[in-house]
Amino acid sequence: MNIGFLGLGNMGGPMALNLVKVGHRLHVYDLSAASVAHLVEAGASAASSPAALAQSDVEVIVTMLPAAAHVKAVYLGDDGLLAHVHPSVLLIDSSTIDPQSAREVAAAARQHGNPMLDAPVSGGTGGAAAGTLTFMVGGETTDFTRAQPILAAMGKNIVHCGGSGNGQAAKVANNMLLGISMIGVAEAMSLGVALGVDPKVLAGIINTSSGRCWSSDTYNPFPGVMDNVPAARGYSGGFGSDLMLKDLGLASEAARQIRQPVILGALAQQLYQSFSLQGHGSLDFSAIIDLYRKGD
Ligand code: NAD
Repeated sequence: MNIGFLGLGNMGGPMALNLVKVGHRLHVYDLSAASVAHLVEAGASAASSPAALAQSDVEVIVTMLPAAAHVKAVYLGDDGLLAHVHPSVLLIDSSTIDPQSAREVAAAARQHGNPMLDAPVSGGTGGAAAGTLTFMVGGETTDFTRAQPILAAMGKNIVHCGGSGNGQAAKVANNMLLGISMIGVAEAMSLGVALGVDPKVLAGIINTSSGRCWSSDTYNPFPGVMDNVPAARGYSGGFGSDLMLKDLGLASEAARQIRQPVILGALAQQLYQSFSLQGHGSLDFSAIIDLYRKGD
């Protein structure tokens, strides 16, 4: 199949490579010439602009961009995708953006005659490279069915979450909970250790008791408790605190628009915001435990 792919960054690059690997013909575009060159080496052809990509012979276009402003510019801009794309082309946006913006862009696409899905992912850069991402998809069932084999080349868990914007809604709800639960585990681990319990013993208790969650049993933030997690390597790699801050901001903004209280989500956002201000935005999000511990 001829597929357009726009946005070849840390996530989009490996996702596009996986589509090439299963035999799709890719037409790619990114502002970064180096990212485009990498895909061209793998067999993709380069488009000179979003307009040129839209006008090439593609049946599907996937976008993987940083934030809503980029998505709106690429789709709705004067020389953007919708101004040039054939109405039969299926549009899939995998960027993480707020549900309302996703619905706005999908409505504009529909008006132009194009089916559009929001399909944000979880699984990080490792999942993107391994083709094991989870896709949370919002849009019409027929469009979801059409997209499924394409998404299956990049992910292993493809979930239809309902109508337009619902993929983004599922993603922001999950990531808000992740931010809150990480802070909760950091707080509880720090309290128990400060009261004298050995960190491994405490983690063992929590992980076989009612406090257990992913942040405690798979990604524990306390150094020395687990191997192969960012806490074991100075909080390098993993999921950056600034990316968590972005997702908490999306949750707070989405909630504000519908007057839905997200009390702990907003508090988590503020904690990550001050952590970022202190210069720690590039550390893995489990490093938030430093707010609770004396420097050592
Ligand atoms: P990135 O910054 O590495 O890549 C974004 C790419 O988009 C860059 O190559 C950039 O040049 C390109 N771009 C920006 N504006 C453009 C435009 N107008 N036209 C063409 N290309 C343009 O970001 P990423 O880590 O790949 O993340 C992409 C999305 O996926 C974000 O919404 C992010 O929140 C989400 N996400 C990231 C992760 C992760 O672990 N990195 C995990 C899940 C979801």
